[in-house]
Amino acid sequence: MEKEENQEPRERVKTIHIDQKLCKGCELCIHFCPHNVLEKSKKPNEQGYYPPTPVNIKNCKACKFCELYCPEMAIFVEEES
Ligand code: SF4
Ligand code: SF4
Repeated sequence: MEKEENQEPRERVKTIHIDQKLCKGCELCIHFCPHNVLEKSKKPNEQGYYPPTPVNIKNCKACKFCELYCPEMAIFVEEES
């Protein structure tokens, strides 16, 4: 008998937008992502901060914790319509 809780959500994330100008490189989004989707960029933005970059977008479950924790509203998860 199959258990319902084992069902994975289907892939529905199209892209993760990161506003390079708004990001202050606090890394909250990186640390609170439960699926290790984000990493710190190797290149700084114009203000010298290191924004996140998606390295594992297939693991993203669209939980939007990254959006919720970002104090700058610099990250946005776009889902498939
Ligand atoms: S939506 Fe959730 S899984 Fe996807 S990057 Fe943000 S915190 Fe990680
Ligand atoms: S939480 Fe927001 S400001 Fe902080 S690193 Fe992530 S995108 Fe940048």
